[in-house]
Amino acid sequence: MGWIIDVPGAEVHEGHVAMLGPDGRGSGGSSGEGALFSNPRWSWGSDEPVDIVVPWSEIIGWRVQCECGWRGTTWRREDARTDDPTEEDVFPEHMLLPDGRTLEAAGHAEWREHVQPLVATAAVRSAAAAVRDAETALAEAVAAARTANPPATWEQIGRAAGISRQSAHERWARHR
Ligand SMILES: [Zn+2]
Repeated sequence: MGWIIDVPGAEVHEGHVAMLGPDGRGSGGSSGEGALFSNPRWSWGSDEPVDIVVPWSEIIGWRVQCECGWRGTTWRREDARTDDPTEEDVFPEHMLLPDGRTLEAAGHAEWREHVQPLVATAAVRSAAAAVRDAETALAEAVAAARTANPPATWEQIGRAAGISRQSAHERWARHR
């Protein structure tokens, strides 16, 4: 269970509510018996299992986190109660806060605030990239005009670009 945002030209953010093991590390998944954690004793070629199972009863809490390293609220086990006492699991989507929200919903809301600046500036980011691409294309076109046979003069290039001869020369003469 995760939330992902992929803004073109920006880093990817992927958030979720992790179940926390006794050592405070976040879980990487789950099995029927409990939450899965990467085994710190595992290494290539060793007989150790890649993952270890921590029983639901040993989960100490939950944490909102993002792949980028950002971390939100940490809840302790006593901060939330299950919505189904017949089930032993402690999945965030089944755990309720005193205000009635699930940990999944509360965590998602918090993570959305974390990525909000990226969403708000997405159009700025793409427009700025388009400007840079256009600047590159313009400089290449000027260079091509200057190496044509016969070469275009700075007067002609300036007129074509809508600027003065002097400005054209100052802007592109060194870009050869
Ligand atoms: Zn992030």
